[in-house]
Amino acid sequence: MSRSRKQKSCNLQSLLKWTKKFLLSVADFLFPPKCLLCKNFIIPYNNGDFCEDCLDNFNFFNNSPICPKCGILFKSNKGKDHLCSKCAGKSHSFDKARSVGPFEGTLRKAIHDLKYSNKSMLADPLGKILAAYAGLMLNIKDYEIILPVPLHFLRLRERSFNQSLMLSRRVGKIWNIPVNAESLKRLRQTKPQTSLSHEERHKNVRGAFSFEGNDVRGKKVLLVDDVYTSGSTVDECARVLKKHGALKVDVLTLARTR
Ligand SMILES: [Zn+2]
Ligand SMILES: [Zn+2]
Repeated sequence: MSRSRKQKSCNLQSLLKWTKKFLLSVADFLFPPKCLLCKNFIIPYNNGDFCEDCLDNFNFFNNSPICPKCGILFKSNKGKDHLCSKCAGKSHSFDKARSVGPFEGTLRKAIHDLKYSNKSMLADPLGKILAAYAGLMLNIKDYEIILPVPLHFLRLRERSFNQSLMLSRRVGKIWNIPVNAESLKRLRQTKPQTSLSHEERHKNVRGAFSFEGNDVRGKKVLLVDDVYTSGSTVDECARVLKKHGALKVDVLTLARTR
């Protein structure tokens, strides 16, 4: 192609790009998109998926002191990071766990809508938030593989998607880390952890997961789930992964119960 033809096609492309951008911004002005959570128009349009009110009600753990093991934020903002009472008396199979924020307010509603109201479109903005948080709070470039906490196939059939896998895919894509959704499996349906005592939670998930293959051997693994409740589920997954040679297993969740 001659130099002037190349130049012309380049100009045409940038003109088309500019026109598309212009038309989209006019469309956003005339018909502002609706917030994925509350359905109100996003005004002023912030180029995101949530309105200002919903964004204001997101609570993030971005303070200290925290428990270096499970990541819980202490009520008092004085002193250094130290083990919480639950972690001080217990050894975990995972190395550390971090959550974006408490399981309450907007974050709780968003996770609830994602899981139970069939709003799988929420996985994209929530996955981006999770990825951004992971970039700030973890040495994200260290991880060689991401694994979602699996659902039992009966629950998967009922829900038609695994929210942890959808979140894992967003994080994996943004940080360029491969996601393995096949090797870790849930062998049996477990009761919801929220309905059980601490001791029962541990028994409930013991032996509930299996792992096939060599994909984690010698690797640093990031295990992703939507909510950290007692930590028993992710701890059992981490135990299985370490048994199969994982060097390190850190846990990343959107929310955690206090
Ligand atoms: Zn909203
Ligand atoms: Zn702790």
